[in-house]
Amino acid sequence: MKFDYDLFVIGGGSGGVRAARIAASEYGARVGLAEESRMGGTCVIRGCVPKKLMIFASQAGAAAAESRGYGWQGAGEGRFDWAEFHGKLLRELDRLEGAYTSGLVNAGVEVHMQRARLHDAHTVELADGQRLSAKHILIAVGGRPQRPDIPGKELGLISDDLFTLDRLPGRVLVVGGGFIACEFATILQGLGSATVLAYRGDAVLRGFDAEMRRHATEQLRAIGVDVRLGTNPARLDREGAGVRVTFEDGGSEIFDAVMFATGRAPYTKGLGLEEAGVRLGRRGEIAVDEWSQSSVPSIYAVGDVTDRVNLTPVAIREGHSFADTIFGARPRKVDHRLVASAVYTRPHEVATIGLTEEEAEACGPADIYVASFRPMRSLFAGSDARAVMKLVVDGETDKVLGCHIFGPEAGEMIQMIAIPLGMGATKADFDAAIAVHPTLAEELVTMRKPSRRVGAAKMDKPAASA
Ligand code: NDP
Repeated sequence: MKFDYDLFVIGGGSGGVRAARIAASEYGARVGLAEESRMGGTCVIRGCVPKKLMIFASQAGAAAAESRGYGWQGAGEGRFDWAEFHGKLLRELDRLEGAYTSGLVNAGVEVHMQRARLHDAHTVELADGQRLSAKHILIAVGGRPQRPDIPGKELGLISDDLFTLDRLPGRVLVVGGGFIACEFATILQGLGSATVLAYRGDAVLRGFDAEMRRHATEQLRAIGVDVRLGTNPARLDREGAGVRVTFEDGGSEIFDAVMFATGRAPYTKGLGLEEAGVRLGRRGEIAVDEWSQSSVPSIYAVGDVTDRVNLTPVAIREGHSFADTIFGARPRKVDHRLVASAVYTRPHEVATIGLTEEEAEACGPADIYVASFRPMRSLFAGSDARAVMKLVVDGETDKVLGCHIFGPEAGEMIQMIAIPLGMGATKADFDAAIAVHPTLAEELVTMRKPSRRVGAAKMDKPAASA
């Protein structure tokens, strides 16, 4: 049977664009791609990229304070102009979107700027009614922010809205304690909004190493965020120009804006997946195997829509591996076991890879190396903020199983640490590296003695000979 395309991709985000571009430019496939919104997807248009630029903007006040600590008189006496910054941000996003589109077009991909849904295992239907057939279909539609199911939830903003605000709210409530809640609270407080963060748990960033969670929670407070733990909204009501939030404990307060950062869910609704026989998981994600293949052999899926590891670089790797496997005859699976990530809080980021201390404790024994110190740069400027670095080391093999950093530019450091960890480096390998002095990262290769040993000896460990 002759198809219109070798590959049709639904979704022009990180994973879809990479798969389309590699299939077309490297392997000569005839590729079509449909995007209903803007090319670049969540990461470029309403996620990582604008978020990080906002983090930079939000840090200017603290940078000025640090400058004053270094003798610069009058640093930071200006005021932040949201309209100017925002206009520049939107122009930058337009530029990036253009680059994504031209990257596809130059690779020979036919781009359809409209919604597409599955018609059957080999056919997509565009919003204008056009039906296009393809030998393979890749679904890369990502996820969408979720609001909690409470009365008045529609009065709350979601993360997408932060990037389209006309002006910053005077007083804002951020709900949640994950990546987005921590980063957005950091941004909003740093740009001048009085920020309250309500999180139902006992420390932000559930799933991270407990010591890092504690430091991240304390840092939010130190930069001025009113962090309320064990707190959750029960309902929202419009009141004047603001929103009245009634909390689960019965208390209520008015905010200029409420922002839900309460997780994201796969964007699979209305795509025709069930009708085409594609099996979905409990959260509506497309169930795929290790080759990103769905229950329908011609249909594949990558990125957040599969709800595996929901990070841009993972989606990119999945999209690239799919193209290599299907069109390049170079079968490549993605190893999701050891993926580094960073939360861009300020002044210190939280970065992580591998086992946390708590996870290691459960399967120990493990040696925990911790360096906790005040970085010379902020100390000199008058700050008491501590940085913390932790290595989790297998007590039997000496292999480094995890690394957790709370400190300036922790994201930059964890990227490099991902290399030796992926190669199975031992603590002795770390020790063999000569430090670069004076840096923060040198602490990672100069931790001489473990702070503690956790976890019982493995049950199946052979008994020591008598
Ligand atoms: P997360 O899953 O990280 O956090 C969701 C938060 O919302 C948790 O604190 C959760 O609480 C809370 N929550 C969930 N449901 C409710 C509810 N019904 N009522 C109250 N609180 C609730 O999601 P995010 O939205 O922060 O981020 C989504 C994804 O985006 C992440 O998985 C991450 O991979 C990605 N991301 C990555 C970034 C990075 O790499 N720097 C930056 C931003 C996003 P609890 O902990 O109790 O479950």
